[in-house]
Parts: sequence; structure tokens; C-alpha cells
Amino acid sequence: MYKAPRGTSDILPGEQRYWRYVEQKAAVLCQLYGYQRLDTPVFEDVGLFTRSIGESTDIVTKEMYIFNDRSGNTLALRPEGTAPVCRAYLEHGLDNLPQPVKLYYLAAIFRYERPQAGRYRQHYQFGFEAIGEADPALDAEVIQMAWQFFQSLGITGLALYLNSIGCKACRPLYLEGLKRHYSGHLAGLCPDCRLRFERNPLRLLDCKKPACYGMAEAAPRSLDYLCPQCEEHFEAVQAYLNASKLPFELNHRLVRGLDYYTRTVFEVQPSQGGAQSALGGGGRYDDLIEELGGRPTPAIGFAAGMERVVLSLKQQKVPVSNLPCPRVFVAYVGREAKLEAVKIAAALRRDGVSAIMATGDRSLKAQLRQANSLNADYTAIIGEEEVKRQAVTLRNMITGEQQSVSLAQLQELLLVRE
Ligand code: AMP
Repeated sequence: MYKAPRGTSDILPGEQRYWRYVEQKAAVLCQLYGYQRLDTPVFEDVGLFTRSIGESTDIVTKEMYIFNDRSGNTLALRPEGTAPVCRAYLEHGLDNLPQPVKLYYLAAIFRYERPQAGRYRQHYQFGFEAIGEADPALDAEVIQMAWQFFQSLGITGLALYLNSIGCKACRPLYLEGLKRHYSGHLAGLCPDCRLRFERNPLRLLDCKKPACYGMAEAAPRSLDYLCPQCEEHFEAVQAYLNASKLPFELNHRLVRGLDYYTRTVFEVQPSQGGAQSALGGGGRYDDLIEELGGRPTPAIGFAAGMERVVLSLKQQKVPVSNLPCPRVFVAYVGREAKLEAVKIAAALRRDGVSAIMATGDRSLKAQLRQANSLNADYTAIIGEEEVKRQAVTLRNMITGEQQSVSLAQLQELLLVRE
């Protein structure tokens, strides 16, 4: 027997209501803030990702699903959503529109990670990007939008962490400071952090291993190394956030897993959990569009993990309504009645009434059981008598009441939802 590949899962019909709920909230939110949907391919030229995410990041060094197609192109399954959006922005000349351009996506993301609770090899992200504007008021708006997303879902107990990691001009100085701090203590670090020290010192800050935690806590803070422009920007972001009464906390250890981030970075996490359980995160990426061949174009975005959102909805027992059930189950007894049932079911559907037709030769009792398990509002029962009278016996599946309804009345009665 085949199984779904490790780290992937099926979203069964019984789960779908959570997903539709989150998608609908996401779509409403994007409408409120003026973001338009963009869908990009599941795979892209691998270079798009290595170039943007950064050669030394975990994603690029060990997590991408890379393959050659039959023409020898090297492609990668999308390991994150921002680079494809930027690629599409440039490819379709969206830089010629009034800026910022605001786009959102709901997309499958693929990363070869060690599967555990809330960490999968295929997961879905809801993300949004505002491209073409450096105004710190936009940072605050994006952060507010991210926060409103979780609020509108009814998820509570969350914390919003904020940091600034500076820009091309001031980050090198900060990285030097970090390396100075760590350089005498390399032997005490985990093997991953010893590598990070060489390749990606910023990531030293978010190591969860006990040995490294203390070093990271005592490490110099990026906020102390910001150039005047980055400092002014960050001050303004905080002023706007305060003005909109957003409960953020500064977190000097907050860095993101992708190299393209500049200045503002933020994450939404359960207030009781570690960074492993982040529900979403984002930040500015002011150099990325230029890196991909465009003009210098500042931008900022956010993405949330859908599985973790669904998990939180369940854990917090947020009421999520059921998906619509069939209006009527059409049951029959006898051959002649079956012919009539086929006609009736077809006519109901033509009129927009959802109708499930019984099949096979089961007893009426078995058919009613099936109607029950499908959660149908009614069962229309057709037997010899009903065929003669051009009527059905309509059974209300909640109360068990039955009445004889003529075919002419049936559609009308079922179209009205009480
Ligand atoms: P990132 O692109 O790493 O910033 O991730 C954005 C969000 O996607 C995270 O905050 C998580 O909620 C979610 N996420 C990231 N990686 C995974 C994964 N492997 N499995 C499930 N969710 C993930």
C-alpha cells in the first residue's frame, strides 16, 4: 500500500471546513486592505531561489526539492512565496503601475525538513506583499494586517515580536560585532552554530539549543548598530504601530531564515511557545527586486503557515461552521421509482438544489441511513404510490416528520432555507 510521502498529508473532507474558513478570512482581509490575488507556478528556475533566499541559508543548502526536466532545465519546487511574486512583478511590468503594488497568495510550499508537529515537507502559506514603497507607514500597515488576520480568525494568546536588522550599509558592522562576541566561545556552540558563525552569523541569534541560547541572549543587538536612516525608519514604524495601538514587543533575537530581509522584521508567535511555533512572519526586503534584475524597489511582506493556523483553531476550539450539506437525498423503492428518482434529482440540481441520488438496490432503511450520514436536510422517498401520484414523500431528517409533496411544489419548497 502506498502512503503519502513523509512530511506531507491529505486534507480530508472532514478537515476542509477549517481550510475554507481560513481562506475566506484571508480573502476578506485582502479585500479590506486592497491586496489582489496572484498565483505563480509550483516550480520555478532554481536560480530564482538560490539568488534571493541566500546561498548559505538552510533552505538553499539543504531543503529545496530540485529536479531537472526533460529539456535539462534545473527547477525547484517553490520553497517560499516572496521570490516568485517578485519575479512575476518584474516579468509582467507591474513596476510600471502606480506603486506600491499589493499582492497576495495562497500557495503550497516545499521544504525538505525533519517532519515534526507543525513542520512538514509540504505546507501551505497565506502571504501578502506590498512592493514599491519605502514609507514606514507601510511597514506598520502590513504588520497591522498580519495581526488583524489572526484576530479575525479568533485565535488568541499571540505575541507580536519586532526587530530591525538594518540595511546593506549598517549590517556589516553589526555582523562584525556579532562575530567578535562569539569568536572566543566557538567551542561551546552547537555544530550548526559553528557553521553559522562562518556562513550566516545573523542566524546564530535564533538557535534554540540550550548551549547557544545564553550566548545569543548576551549578544550585541542590531538596534544598537543601525545607521541614522534605518534608525529613523524604525522609530517611525514604532510610532505608527503605537498610534494604531498594536501590542508589539521588541525582540533583539528575531532574525528571519531568509537572507533578503532588511530593516523591519516581525513574527507572530504563541505567547507561551518558542520561535519554532511561529504562526507567521515577515519583513522588508528592499534589495530583492534589484537583486532579481529590476530597478531599486523597496518592498515588505508577510506569510503565515496555514497548517499551524488550523492547528491553533482546533487547539483553541474556535467555532468553525460546517460546510453546506446536501439539501436532499433522493431515495427510491423499485425500478419504476428509480427512473422517476433520476429525473427528479436532475431537475432539482438544474434548479440549484443540491441533491444526492441513491444508487444500487438497498433497502429504504439503508438509504435513510446513508442520507443521515451525509447530513442531508431532507430525504425525498419515491415508491410505486408516489410515481402514480406524481409526488414524493418528503422526510425532514432532523424531526423525522414526513409529508407528501407534489413534484411541482418540491423545488419551491427545497429552495427556501428555513
Ligand atoms: P517562513 O517562510 O519560513 O518565514 O515561514 C512562514 C510561516 O510558514 C511560518 O511562520 C510557519 O507558520 C510556516 N511554516 C514555515 N515552514 C513550515 C513547515 N516546514 N511546515 C509547516 N509550516 C511552516
